[in-house]
Amino acid sequence: MAVPVRRTSKTKKRQRRTHKKLSIPGMVECPECGEMKRTHRVCSSCGSYKGQDVKA
Ligand SMILES: [Zn+2]
Repeated sequence: MAVPVRRTSKTKKRQRRTHKKLSIPGMVECPECGEMKRTHRVCSSCGSYKGQDVKA
């Protein structure tokens, strides 16, 4: 099995991890009311999806 020649430096390790962060994925602003909502989900505050009111 191949073994790395050099140990990864603290800087290199941290540079690699800058793209790996804690966040809630797929949050977008609702185009209807401006609230934050999950993508591909009906907006929980105004009940709209794809510009239509689907909240019965
Ligand atoms: Zn909304």
